[in-house]
Amino acid sequence: MAMVEFKDVQKYFGDFHALKDINLKVDSGETVVVIGPSGSGKSTLIRTINGLESIQSGQLIVNGYDLASKKTNLNLIRKDVGMVFQHFNLYANKTILENIMLAPRIVLHRDEKENKQIANELLEKVGLTSQANKFPAQLSGGQQQRAAIARSLAMKPKCLLFDEPTSALDPEMIGDVLNVMKDIARDSDMTMIVVTHEMGFAREVANRVVFMADGQILEDDSSDVFFKGE
Ligand code: ADP
Ligand code: ADP
Repeated sequence: MAMVEFKDVQKYFGDFHALKDINLKVDSGETVVVIGPSGSGKSTLIRTINGLESIQSGQLIVNGYDLASKKTNLNLIRKDVGMVFQHFNLYANKTILENIMLAPRIVLHRDEKENKQIANELLEKVGLTSQANKFPAQLSGGQQQRAAIARSLAMKPKCLLFDEPTSALDPEMIGDVLNVMKDIARDSDMTMIVVTHEMGFAREVANRVVFMADGQILEDDSSDVFFKGE
């Protein structure tokens, strides 16, 4: 089943044509890496998937919802489609544990005890059990990003979007974050769409590699084909 399907999608910022004739289908459970030069539209592409950017024409179906329709409730999409940002976007005045528990409590009305148990399991999974009661500013960038990933996972999304999750990190922090992402890709059947410059991650983890330039998708290959001959 397709989790995400773009058909002839166009996106403009004013006169600027940011996404040109995008056709892309991502099936449930796939891990797709999006690469390409800075300014080529990668971030815009994945931000359209959970409605952070609107499209001007074409069709975009996400988890069965039509994103081109004004009637589609974006909150319904965001419940199942999470996003991990370059700059973590944690709530600064809440502890790491509270950051993880907040959305399931408010959006899903998850039972408090179950919510805490799931949050603690996720903290363990991302290696942050000892940081549970700290505030985001007390953590390193890499720890904050792992907390942000745990927060997204707490919603049990069907699809998780990553917008350059390691680009804001010091080099020594990148490996831990990529390892968490690799574990998720291997252990879960969640769909992952990852904008990244980390070619090692693309080679090891992605089913597919999408290459963008100048607002267009120039290549869309299985990673075996994409990395053939390297
Ligand atoms: P990438 O993620 O590949 O670096 P982006 O999707 O961030 O590229 O940006 C693609 C192009 O769209 C860039 O030229 C950028 O300046 C432009 N752009 C992105 N967001 C906006 C916006 N809100 N208004 C105008 N132009 C934008
Ligand atoms: P990041 O690298 O974290 O994606 P960017 O600098 O690409 O940050 O974009 C940050 C914000 O500015 C985004 O919301 C994007 O839509 C907006 N933006 C990017 N390029 C432009 C632009 N040329 N004009 C207006 N807004 C832009």
